[in-house]
Amino acid sequence: MGMCKVSGGINKFVGSRLNDEGAPNSKSELYDKFGDLKQERWYDSNGDAIWDRDWKHKWDPKHGEPKFPHDHDWDSSRDPVRTNEHLEVNSMFC
Ligand SMILES: [Zn+2]
Repeated sequence: MGMCKVSGGINKFVGSRLNDEGAPNSKSELYDKFGDLKQERWYDSNGDAIWDRDWKHKWDPKHGEPKFPHDHDWDSSRDPVRTNEHLEVNSMFC
C-alpha cells in the first residue's frame, strides 16, 4: 500500500496534536508556532489514521533521544492503536 500521492489532499495545521480522524485518503501536516514541521499523519479511505511520521517531539531522557524522523504504525487491533515503537521511515508514505 502506498500513500505517496494522497487523493484526499494535504491539510496543514498549527498546534499541539493532529486528530485521529481526517479527510479520507489524505495527509495532515502539523507545524509548531515557529513553522517547523512536527508530524505527518496519513488517513485511509475511511478517514482513520494509519501512519505517522514524527519530525520532533518530547522524549524520555531515560530512553535517550530518539532518531528523527521516525515512523509510528497505527493498528486498529491494538490498544492504544498508535504503536509506540519507533520505526524506520517507510518510503511507501511520502
Ligand atoms: Zn515518535
